[in-house]
Amino acid sequence: MSPFHEIISLLDSARIKIDHQDVTTGQVKALLESIGSGDASRSEDISVLVSPAAGELLEPMARLAKTVTLRRFGRTIQMYAPLYISNHCSNSCVYCGFNVHNKVNRRTSNREEILSEARLIKNQHISQLLLVSGECPAEVSLDLLEATARGLKGMFPSLSIEVYPMDTPDYARLYQAGIDGLAIYQETYDQNIYSMVHPAGPKRDYRYRLGAPERGAAAGFRQIGLGSLLGLNDWRVESHYLMHHAAYLMKHHWKSQISVSFPRLRPAAGGYSPEFPVSDRELVQMICAFRLMLPDAGLVLSTREPAELRDNLIGLGITKMSAGSKTAPGGYLDRLDNNIDKIDNNLNEQGQPAEGQFNVCDDRTVEEVAQSIRSKGYDTVWKDWDQGFEKQNENQGQNINKENGK
Ligand code: SF4
Repeated sequence: MSPFHEIISLLDSARIKIDHQDVTTGQVKALLESIGSGDASRSEDISVLVSPAAGELLEPMARLAKTVTLRRFGRTIQMYAPLYISNHCSNSCVYCGFNVHNKVNRRTSNREEILSEARLIKNQHISQLLLVSGECPAEVSLDLLEATARGLKGMFPSLSIEVYPMDTPDYARLYQAGIDGLAIYQETYDQNIYSMVHPAGPKRDYRYRLGAPERGAAAGFRQIGLGSLLGLNDWRVESHYLMHHAAYLMKHHWKSQISVSFPRLRPAAGGYSPEFPVSDRELVQMICAFRLMLPDAGLVLSTREPAELRDNLIGLGITKMSAGSKTAPGGYLDRLDNNIDKIDNNLNEQGQPAEGQFNVCDDRTVEEVAQSIRSKGYDTVWKDWDQGFEKQNENQGQNINKENGK
């Protein structure tokens, strides 16, 4: 069992809600002043920063978040792209188009197809790649992921996965094959809601998923990405849990860099409507709160959000953005130059293009996003990699495998 599960079990969401309502603007001002003068925040401060009272003071909060971000990260935004390997999934998450019960056109790319797509992404200067798939090990086996990682390792200095949760020895195999980052979102930390929105499939196992970031960190992954799917639960309560999870990992797995994503539910096949929609203003408040609570954490914003909002959030706390994203397996192949590669379409076996997980909202090209970032006085960082760290973590991964008799 995840040791963090014991901590989260002690948090009472009814109490958390009351605490948020009780916060006054005076408390918010005092906290902002204290953080602004260099004091470290305490874990209970999250209640103040995500409270309705803090929402009334969003402008000064955003100014402080900007100052903290500049101090810790300078004027830089890292760029990455997701590459979907498969939209097959054995789960039945009610909010997701890839849900096993949805009639969507499905496809799993093979290693060569994945490498072709990766080359197209690389041609746009992206050097941080996130391999994504539905949760279906029968379609996307550990062997496929391992062979793909070995093929991509020389091309991408930073390679992450967002796939099904695994045990530590399997994560260690992927680490040794060249994967250095793991993104795995709990979706919601509320166990009742979690059970309702995950009615069947392996993902029903809340605790196994909750322990995945710790298992990934133990395997040596240099980057661990967390997130809640915004819209499933009260965002204020969810922020509380998510912040505790990130802080716990930073304390106990300090060799891994922890990042937090803010995915808002987007329209997808199945027509799910979020029960707790999060407004733009609330999303900004949440991002600013995380920057002030976790000044060293990477904060990530994907193309789920519209271009204008993403542009406005540059500098307010976000440190990493995706660009030019496709959310269907084979989605980048329509950019293929047939003189360079032999694969000429992104159709599945039934001759249909595979469907994406959600509708991308910011559909600008990588260069357009980069230009927008530069126009705000920020530099785009295409690669974030410390080669010296690799050797150290490789040895760590080998030791884990030795301990597990592999
Ligand atoms: S959210 Fe992930 S696990 Fe759930 S149905 Fe979609 S792809 Fe599958």
